[in-house]
Amino acid sequence: MLFSQNTAEKFEGTPGYSFLKYNYHECPNSNLDPEDGIETHYDKILLCSRCGNQITSYSEGATIHGSFEHSFLNPDGIMYQIGCFKKAAGCISSERFILEFTWFHPFPWCFVFCSDCGRQLGWKYKSNNNDVFYGLILKLLCSM
Ligand SMILES: [Zn+2]
Repeated sequence: MLFSQNTAEKFEGTPGYSFLKYNYHECPNSNLDPEDGIETHYDKILLCSRCGNQITSYSEGATIHGSFEHSFLNPDGIMYQIGCFKKAAGCISSERFILEFTWFHPFPWCFVFCSDCGRQLGWKYKSNNNDVFYGLILKLLCSM
């Protein structure tokens, strides 16, 4: 059994739990053993799937507007599945925050990129108190 009842009770309600439960073993570049449980992976680092740069970890997952995971359409009609993170040390950002088309009203956003290969990995959001969080495109991240 992949996730024991005790494991489920321990992590239920934790940001990122449902994503990790259903998706962590599907990452194509991952060497995780799907028979392992969530406890061994919860602190796993998330890498840029293109270059392997360390981006963040599941333990940095954040609940924003009631959920870790969100799906949004951009103005060009492209669907993005993103996860919210408190920190993403492997990202650099444009730091030019704009409010237009924000997915997390009232927070303005800017682009974030892998600090190693430069691929866009998602967006950074800033609150009125200058708190920040990251919305990262989940399919572009892999577990180590
Ligand atoms: Zn990269």
